Amino acid sequence: MLDPWEIRAARNAASDLAGGRVVVVTGGARRGGIGRAVADAFLRLGDAVVLSDIGTALPSHPDYPVASSDSLADGATDLRALGELITAACDVTDEAQVVRLFDIAEAAYGGVDVLVNCAGLAIGLTPVTQLALADWQVNLDVMATGAFLCAREAARRMEADGRGGRIITIASQAGKTGMPHLAAYCAAKFAVIGLTQSMAAELGEKGITVNAICPGTVDTPLLEVEGGVYEVFARAAGRTKDDYRRRLERRIPMRRLGRPDDIAAAAVYLASAAASFVTGEALNVTGGEEMH
Ligand code: NAD
Repeated sequence: MLDPWEIRAARNAASDLAGGRVVVVTGGARRGGIGRAVADAFLRLGDAVVLSDIGTALPSHPDYPVASSDSLADGATDLRALGELITAACDVTDEAQVVRLFDIAEAAYGGVDVLVNCAGLAIGLTPVTQLALADWQVNLDVMATGAFLCAREAARRMEADGRGGRIITIASQAGKTGMPHLAAYCAAKFAVIGLTQSMAAELGEKGITVNAICPGTVDTPLLEVEGGVYEVFARAAGRTKDDYRRRLERRIPMRRLGRPDDIAAAAVYLASAAASFVTGEALNVTGGEEMH
């Protein structure tokens, strides 16, 4: 017997639509970011996308360059030509805003079939002995609690709908192996993988799969922020950014950094009927840099 997801996929295939699903993407506004690429990929498949991002400064770290409301508007302009899309500002750390995001998806498109949690940041890249509590906390708030709040809300609605669904969170290779200067980021990403496994165990019988994607180093604006990967790691290695980047590429078996499209392709796979028996996974997309 086909599960509801397979019936939906078969129906969509028969109607010439590869997609036809409703996909909610968090942290998706920034040009060049993973979320934007994820939205682009699902739109090209014929899915409807709710593109969301914080759209206003982080209360605890107002100087950190999160996506502004202009980036959300710019994302809409860029992507709307590809298909059915609406935007919604949502701070994933705020429970009421998360509920509202899914209300918006429901009002516009009748529910949610796929959630892709992309919201994230690079703050507090420093040895633990110098790590401020506020910097530790914002990592956990945005990338662990934020993923939890969105996944919980998506799961509630998918369960109520009874037609299955897909919950995907962008974790990291830093969710599998601890790294210097990244304790807060690693802790948040390890948490996401635990959340993914527990939710997968609970929701399988409802036809809902829950998976994480673990990118390696992906060429996005996240690497460029002040106090981010390039600045901190290049400085620690006593190298220029370009030199550091070249050394990094040589260390990766595929000899290049990841691209946002590589991660979007993994999300498309995990949301597809082909992955209907894949759940609780933390899929490396690292060019071979991480293998366990
Ligand atoms: P990005 O900065 O382009 O995207 C992150 C987005 O999250 C931004 O648009 C930002 O505005 C948004 N955001 C931050 N706080 C938020 C909040 N409270 N509520 C809603 N949105 C918020 O960076 P990216 O590289 O595309 O990162 C996307 C995801 O991929 C992140 O979770 C990141 O940790 C993860 N990741 C990135 C890399 C990499 O090398 N770039 C590697 C592994 C994992």
